[in-house]
Amino acid sequence: MPPSRARVLLGILCPAVLSGCSAGPYFVAENEPWRASEERACLASGVIRESPFIRTRATLGGPSVCGAEQPFEMAAADGGRVRLKPAALLRCPMIPQVDRWVSEVIEPAARHTYGASLAEITVAASYSCRPMNNIRGGHLSEHGHANALDVSAFTLTDGTRITVKRGWHGDLRAQAFLHTVHDGACAEFTTVLGPNYDRHHHDHFHVDMARRGPNGLRTVCK
Ligand SMILES: [Zn+2]
Repeated sequence: MPPSRARVLLGILCPAVLSGCSAGPYFVAENEPWRASEERACLASGVIRESPFIRTRATLGGPSVCGAEQPFEMAAADGGRVRLKPAALLRCPMIPQVDRWVSEVIEPAARHTYGASLAEITVAASYSCRPMNNIRGGHLSEHGHANALDVSAFTLTDGTRITVKRGWHGDLRAQAFLHTVHDGACAEFTTVLGPNYDRHHHDHFHVDMARRGPNGLRTVCK
């Protein structure tokens, strides 16, 4: 078995201070060299510029397999105009994708459907050192690599608030808006999961930048 496919059973390495680890759930993680190489390429590209709303974080609580080499705290997107609340802890490759999702998908959808701009995104989760779906013994979630974002609601400049939980099967405007936002995310992220995927996602959209499949190019849009 080549090193990249080596599986490691973790748990005792998981620091108790980290969210999702305090109860000691074990998870399985693989040695995946693409993570570090993609992160370093992203950092070297200069695509991320520090600002009042994108700040570097020294650490996410390691050392452990969780976290990122250079994590960021993203408090707003689209040039600072759209708040992320609370601020999301993300690795470099996620940040330009979130920014594009906001400015090229969500904002146009808000203006088209509601005639108002997007003001705020409710972040249900970002970095969390835990197994997928919190199931003990599962594979380490992309959230553990700061490579995923869960979004549960969108607030517009006129005060309208659209939640995934109520809106996905709600009135026609909310349905149209949320389906456009969900489907548009599939052009920006390698994984997009919503309420149609499973019961764990009934109230939020999960987006991440995982590499999947034998050539790392398989995408998931559900
Ligand atoms: Zn998620």
